[in-house]
Amino acid sequence: MTAPHAMSDDRLSLAPTSGKVSQTARDADGRYRYRHYIDGAFVDPAGGEWFETSDPVEGDDWAWIARGNAQDADLAVMAAHRAFSTGAWPALSASGRGALMRKLGDLIGEHAEWLARIEMKDNGKLLSELTMQMRYMSNYYYYYGGLADKIEGTVIPTDKPGVFNFTKPEPIGVVACIMPWNSPLPLTSLKLAPALAAGCTVVLKPSEFTSASLLEFVKLVEAAGFPKGVVNVVTGYGAEIGDALISHRHVERIAFTGGPEAGRIINEKAARHMKRVTLELGGKSPNIIFDDADLEQAVKGAVAGIFAASGQTCVAGSRLLVQDNIYDECLDRLTCFIADVRFGHPGDPQTQIAPISTKPQMDKIKSYVQIAKDEGARLVTGGETAEVAGYPKGLFYKPTIFADVRNEMRIAQEEVFGPVLSVIRFHDEEEAIAIANDTQFGLAAGIWTQSMSRALTMANRIRAGTIWVNNYRSTSTTSPFGGFKMSGVGREGGIAGIWEYLEVKSVWISTVTDIPNPFIRR
Ligand code: NAD
Repeated sequence: MTAPHAMSDDRLSLAPTSGKVSQTARDADGRYRYRHYIDGAFVDPAGGEWFETSDPVEGDDWAWIARGNAQDADLAVMAAHRAFSTGAWPALSASGRGALMRKLGDLIGEHAEWLARIEMKDNGKLLSELTMQMRYMSNYYYYYGGLADKIEGTVIPTDKPGVFNFTKPEPIGVVACIMPWNSPLPLTSLKLAPALAAGCTVVLKPSEFTSASLLEFVKLVEAAGFPKGVVNVVTGYGAEIGDALISHRHVERIAFTGGPEAGRIINEKAARHMKRVTLELGGKSPNIIFDDADLEQAVKGAVAGIFAASGQTCVAGSRLLVQDNIYDECLDRLTCFIADVRFGHPGDPQTQIAPISTKPQMDKIKSYVQIAKDEGARLVTGGETAEVAGYPKGLFYKPTIFADVRNEMRIAQEEVFGPVLSVIRFHDEEEAIAIANDTQFGLAAGIWTQSMSRALTMANRIRAGTIWVNNYRSTSTTSPFGGFKMSGVGREGGIAGIWEYLEVKSVWISTVTDIPNPFIRR
């Protein structure tokens, strides 16, 4: 394994890069202490309990996080409810909301490197990727800020005489947003930006593994001038505080990104309380290579699909379907490509493979590798942790490839969320489609072919929310994203994204002075 490069303190500093935001206080032992952010103030948890968050590369517990309970959830929802119902926020025009959002976008751009460093400290992703993500994140606020005053109702030419009817899209109310640990701030922004543009107020709950970046980010929201109570952040464990948010009587929508199991629980509870839901869940996405593909590009696409971010992405192309006459060559090229990958500190620009983000995730990866072996899949490479000089506590795992995987195996059906690739053989288009669709999930798919008609046939017949042809992992603020089947409910991104946060009201105005027979519905 390659030795880590020395890095200056600057690259790792968690201090804000401008005087526009304050530095989070530290305890005497040097650990940061992160409080809830409710009604425009940082507050201690009602129960007085805290938990530690750790760095997956150094292994140190570097910060204390407030352990929220139902009382904290109530305080935050009530603050959001007040801000939604009275005061400066509902009085602001849609254009005014857009202006605040563009200001927030500017502040994000100014603070992108700082936010990236905080996020890296908590989830260990590559700083280079995080910095790009944070810079791009401004676009969420520019795009939805621009959309805020372009959501129009309609005048309906009804078939009823004597009345004038029009529709009016209105903000849905208080939204509870619950996020995972793999991309905390971008996944928050996919919810927060359209919710704010629509005029909603929000309570955000980050993953218990990555709470810090959101509690730094919220300082930018404050600096942008959003009225207090519009954006609130509570932290803690899903079953403790998440549950209280879902069932709160003043929460109208739950916007959740996370695993299928938590998604199912949340969907069931939300249904009981008649809450609207947006669910962005997991996947087992097929990345399909045909024999007419540019194999060099396709192999890069396979690597991007499963080994970028150590496979910890919802859209991971974890099932690689390869046409039988190029199966062996493709496997060889793939194995060679990853043979010399560089492990190391995620802040080091030379590093290609960063650590796994959490200890439970590492345990899950190990258990699935064992399951794959027990099922008879052939381990081609990896299948074990990596020792990286200088980081004895780092949670590193080698890129892992299993060949001769059959689609009915658990390793081909269940989400691992790690750098573990199942390579499956297929004979022709029909078989590729059948295998691709034979899963409970439907988040994304990749297709590698030079044939346009084949690309279109596959794009039409694969049941997934996103289809990439000769590329993998492209996404944009401007394009809708979401899952078919068990991969989710609803869409985030694009114009579709804002409609998740709106209710359509139909208004009828009489144009006659005399109401005809009141006993008969017209
Ligand atoms: P997770 O489901 O364990 O947790 C996600 C969030 O839900 C956390 O904030 C957690 O505290 C909370 N939570 C857990 N149980 C809860 C409950 N009963 N009630 C309320 N809240 C609860 O997921 P994770 O391990 O943090 O993230 C990984 C998962 O996220 C993967 O399955 C991945 O595919 C998925 N994901 C999906 C997308 C997408 O857009 N489709 C994007 C990123 C990640």
